Amino acid sequence: MDCPEDSARLLISEVLLSLNYLAEEDAQRFYAAYLFSAEAHETQFRSSGEPYIYHPLAVAHILGQMHLDHEALCAALLHDVVEDTPITPATIEQRFGKRIRHIVEGVSKLSHIHFSTKSEAKAENFTKLLTASLEDARVILVKFADRLHNLRTLGCLNPAKRRRIALETLELYTPLAGRLGLRQLRLELEDLAFAHLYPLRRRLLLSGQANLRQHQKEQIQQIEHCLLQGFKQAGIEVKINRYDQPLWQLLNMRRHRLGTKRPANTTPPARFKTLLATLHFRIQTLTQDDCYRALGVIHNLYKPLPQRFKDYIAVPKTNGYQSLHTALYGPHNALLKIQVCTQSMQLRADYGMATYWQEHPGALPEQKIMLNDWFKPLLELHQAANNSAEFLEYFKDDLFLEEIFVFTPKGKIIRLPAGATPIDFAYAVHTDIGNTCVSALIDQQAAPLSTPLMSGQIVAITTSAQAYPQANWLKSAVTSRARINVQRYLKHADWQQSAKLGQALLAKELLAFNLDLDALPQAQINGWLRNIHVADLETLQNEIALGHRPALLDALALSQSVTQAQPAPAPTHPPLAISSDTNPYLQFATCCLPLPPELILGVPCPPNGIVLHRHDCQTLAQSGATPKDYQAVTWESAPGSSFVSSLHLYAEDRPGTLAAVTHVIAQADANITNIDFPHRDGHYTMLEFVLKVRDVAHITVILRKLAQLPGIVQVARGKPKHLG
Ligand code: MN
Repeated sequence: MDCPEDSARLLISEVLLSLNYLAEEDAQRFYAAYLFSAEAHETQFRSSGEPYIYHPLAVAHILGQMHLDHEALCAALLHDVVEDTPITPATIEQRFGKRIRHIVEGVSKLSHIHFSTKSEAKAENFTKLLTASLEDARVILVKFADRLHNLRTLGCLNPAKRRRIALETLELYTPLAGRLGLRQLRLELEDLAFAHLYPLRRRLLLSGQANLRQHQKEQIQQIEHCLLQGFKQAGIEVKINRYDQPLWQLLNMRRHRLGTKRPANTTPPARFKTLLATLHFRIQTLTQDDCYRALGVIHNLYKPLPQRFKDYIAVPKTNGYQSLHTALYGPHNALLKIQVCTQSMQLRADYGMATYWQEHPGALPEQKIMLNDWFKPLLELHQAANNSAEFLEYFKDDLFLEEIFVFTPKGKIIRLPAGATPIDFAYAVHTDIGNTCVSALIDQQAAPLSTPLMSGQIVAITTSAQAYPQANWLKSAVTSRARINVQRYLKHADWQQSAKLGQALLAKELLAFNLDLDALPQAQINGWLRNIHVADLETLQNEIALGHRPALLDALALSQSVTQAQPAPAPTHPPLAISSDTNPYLQFATCCLPLPPELILGVPCPPNGIVLHRHDCQTLAQSGATPKDYQAVTWESAPGSSFVSSLHLYAEDRPGTLAAVTHVIAQADANITNIDFPHRDGHYTMLEFVLKVRDVAHITVILRKLAQLPGIVQVARGKPKHLG
């Protein structure tokens, strides 16, 4: 067997000895829970053949090493009782109290519900675990310890099962441990999972690493000596620790760098050999000030790599992690990575959330002020998701992303995953801001909403009460929060609006047969729907709107089923009236973007609904669609309605042009929804605006006013021709 084994059986006496931080009566309760659990599991054995009780005891021991309180420890002893023995949660509550029951139930799988698929069961169970943890964070700690001991003792299971457990650990548990700041736990879980998944690769890498360090021995000593001398001269008391980058992280780092989610402007992936040869040091100082002084000493001794310094002391990570990170060129081309922090920072870096119970002995789960920081984003995600599978998907997406931080104009820090855009930023500030955002200023420069953000930038969002989420935002939003909100909006808007359009199309055809749905008895309508094999009227309306079925045939079917209905002598086809551009099934063709009162033609394009063109549109003329396909459409005036239009202008590239142009448009009472810079050569710049106007007259006024601005060479409606 190649993987690390924890075969040593712990005895209750040893565990009790290690729990010397517990009060006498708490230790007694722990012992009572042990006796209860041992009796409940009496007839059970683990696959290794040993009595079952050794497992919960080992789990409690792991939590004891993190100095957790007696309730968590008792729950650890009892964590498999409900799932594997006839004992009920009510009995646990009666014997050990409500809170221990909550933890035990939180860790237990849902056994009484039948799931149709394995992945559904996994999603439901994991969601249940997380929601229980939101109420009491000790639930997740017990689960982690359980998983850790299981991985340590996986050796006796068959390879397929070992693989499945190891994969699940890497997929869900280790990223979550990272998010909660449980570094030690995460590293051990990762290494164990790695050992179960790729035992040979791990062994080769370990021996390769050991060989390499043997070669670097003198180099390491020299660096350590230099650092110590430097700190001594500066009068800073430090502890220097060299450590090896954990192998799984090293492999993962490279995969991550090669992945697509990183923005293009970050450094290219390092070669694996370079990563393996990089030397890591952790410097521990007495005070926070000393961290910065120590950093000065280090940067004096070796040349720092540009843009690799990170100050997580001033701007801690979401999980509370604090430290200074720097990378340097060491002697003989060695690459050094050094972290500087204080002892308490180190403790939090290693044990994150779990340090809470060390710092607040006797804390009740209700007093979880600090824990909220860790769980709040999870809670939000959970509330926004429609079901467990969706929650799990979003949760996984969020966990694997690296972090950046940007600022609001007022200086508030907003943390976002790498690759996040102003859309993510807007939603991170507030859902309403996300739902109504129209443009962004990044470091005072106008930028498209799809621009990837970088750490340190100041981002300002412009909103408009008329704006609403766009489907193409899904391409540039990376945070779950933004994606869930956009999707939710689109889904809701879609169904409602397509039903509305379908209703109008159907009513128009029915009118030709002198039929009105509102005037028909419900039974007749139901009979008709049965005949045409549609579940209900709304579904029919949606299918018509999507272009899946012609409204005319359905109307004909109804007229035939309604015996007394006489076909109208001369079917009048009143045109479909358009009063706004907010119906996703009425699309304004991007080639011509018609505006009232221009003549328009509707071209059915299943499954996207109807596309509206200007009657003289060149693209339409070349498309080969024949007039008999067209749907008659007309404008209907509605107060306050506005339509998408576009304009482009060619201007001298000088400061203030953009501001002047946007000012003119705003003064004219039009909303800008997007700005693009398709061309810029230092002398001239091409600006392209997408905006919302009332009608042709409105855009004409804007074009005329823009033409009068100084420095404007050319301005016209639509897209620039040569750029397509
Ligand atoms: Mn267990």
